[in-house]
Amino acid sequence: MRLLMVAPPGAGKGTQAARLASHYGMAHLSSGELLREEVAAGSEIGRDVAAYLERGDLVPDEVVIEILTKPVLDAVEHGGYVLDGFPRTLRQAEEAHRVAKQVEGIELQAVVHLAVGHDEVRRRLLARARREGRSDDTGTTIAHRLEVFDAQTRPLLAYYAGRGLVVDIDGEQPVEKVFADIVDALDSLRAGRR
Ligand code: ADP
Repeated sequence: MRLLMVAPPGAGKGTQAARLASHYGMAHLSSGELLREEVAAGSEIGRDVAAYLERGDLVPDEVVIEILTKPVLDAVEHGGYVLDGFPRTLRQAEEAHRVAKQVEGIELQAVVHLAVGHDEVRRRLLARARREGRSDDTGTTIAHRLEVFDAQTRPLLAYYAGRGLVVDIDGEQPVEKVFADIVDALDSLRAGRR
């Protein structure tokens, strides 16, 4: 299966993507994780992107496309992928679509939108900051990441809805219930397309 998760920061994309990956036997590709690994490894890309991550700004499209292309192509050969964090802008989505049209069997099959209000994501991110100490989980950066999501990533939902791909899920429920709702929605989508 080939999926994309779209949700504000702190909505549970990473948690649900990991569970979906093991449930359906596909690779979990988190752009944020891959970027943080580059920073931790002190690579050239890592040195370039560290400041963007720290501020909660998006890193340049070319960098993310460069990091994600090979893992996506590899995943397609091995059960598919769940993308967590990429595409995150209309330009990235259009570029990914352009590439995908040229290669058989790599195009997205569904986009899972986890709907969670700003108050709830703020609460969750501050709790994660206390647990994990991620450099971008601080009050002002969280507010900025939510603005960036609304301005740059939310428009993806209309774009993908136009292609009939979006599944809306109430992400304010307990983790287990969110997961069950996603699996139900995906399984009926697949049954409907058969
Ligand atoms: P969250 O969704 O909680 O903000 P992520 O781990 O998905 O966390 O992303 C962390 C940061 O990584 C983002 O704030 C951004 O700087 C960068 N990032 C991740 N994915 C992309 C992308 N597709 N395009 C540009 N920047 C990205």
